[in-house]
Amino acid sequence: MITGNIIEACIDFTQRLIQTPSMSGEEGTIAKLVEQECRSLNFDEVTIDPIGNVIARLYGQDRSLPAIVINTHLDHVDPGDPKLWHSGAFEAAIRDGRIYGRGAADIKGPVATQVYALAALIQAGQRPKRDVVFSCVTEEEIGGAGAIYWAEHVDYPIGLIMIGEPTSNNVALGHRGIRQVQVTFFGRSVHASVPHKADNPNYALGTFLTRLQKRQHDLPEHPRLGATTVSPTIIEVDTTSRNVTPAWARVNLDFRSAAVTHADIINFIAELAEGFNHQVLWANGFEAIPLDPPEQLVTGFDTHPDDPVTVRVVELLTEGMGRAPVVGQFAFATDGRHMTGLGAPIIGFAPGDEKEAHTANESITLDALAEGLRGYLAVLQNF
Ligand SMILES: [Zn+2]
Repeated sequence: MITGNIIEACIDFTQRLIQTPSMSGEEGTIAKLVEQECRSLNFDEVTIDPIGNVIARLYGQDRSLPAIVINTHLDHVDPGDPKLWHSGAFEAAIRDGRIYGRGAADIKGPVATQVYALAALIQAGQRPKRDVVFSCVTEEEIGGAGAIYWAEHVDYPIGLIMIGEPTSNNVALGHRGIRQVQVTFFGRSVHASVPHKADNPNYALGTFLTRLQKRQHDLPEHPRLGATTVSPTIIEVDTTSRNVTPAWARVNLDFRSAAVTHADIINFIAELAEGFNHQVLWANGFEAIPLDPPEQLVTGFDTHPDDPVTVRVVELLTEGMGRAPVVGQFAFATDGRHMTGLGAPIIGFAPGDEKEAHTANESITLDALAEGLRGYLAVLQNF
């Protein structure tokens, strides 16, 4: 049962998490805080792994059953202009039943909910049916290095992975994958006073973008996860001098899809860039590398709504919360995409409205934390 004590402790922990800034790559302090909390709540195992993820475990009644993994992350995005915030981004002020602060919904509220759902079991002197692994990882916001490292080192069977990203305590069964692709157009650089001697790659880039705008809706869609989209984001040239024509011009394209392969992307770009000397690299968040292998499908994760695990989890969440969660998809990408190789159904569920994520005056309601605790507890107790 979720008692008033547990809800209060969860709210307090959410505040302390918000008060501990943890930009991607700077998660050391918050990892220690989460580790300490898990230790003081008497989890059976608590470690910080070599990449900085906090991994904790509560033993189940039958330790031979495949584990439940509850995953979330330690980092948040930049709070941006402090003037846009009504109270400090790291103050964790409570007003009108909401906690305000960077990370309230993405991701401190969900972290506290997962930790305190486990604490509720421990406090009640209960064991889950199977082992529960709490995997709280680094660098989710910048490509998922923590989740990738964690998934590579899993050496035990897993029956269910719950992704704690804000779903308003509804169920998200997947999302599209991301491919960020750099397209570079090459030309010849000269003094800007003699443009006739140049081969200025800005014109190739401009033509390419005009063609892209016309053809962007031609990419195929996925029956559940929707349309393939592409957005040009950052544009760069090789020179910082205003009186030099560039030798190359580059655009970053952000593809979101569950329906195209690398080869489809390469062919699509080749058609749009026809006639121009260009190169395509995949910027995977770490470094630009060739888009390989060509047959690889761009996908996030996609758990079927009729999968027996999905049906059971929805049933348990309904019992726990006293209402049926809406079953849908994430609009954004999560670390779930790095866990598809583990073979377990992946289900997103956590308090917090996804519209709050990455905004000024981000907040989460205290009621949502309490409801999220009830939902998680029902799954951890009975799955
Ligand atoms: Zn997040």
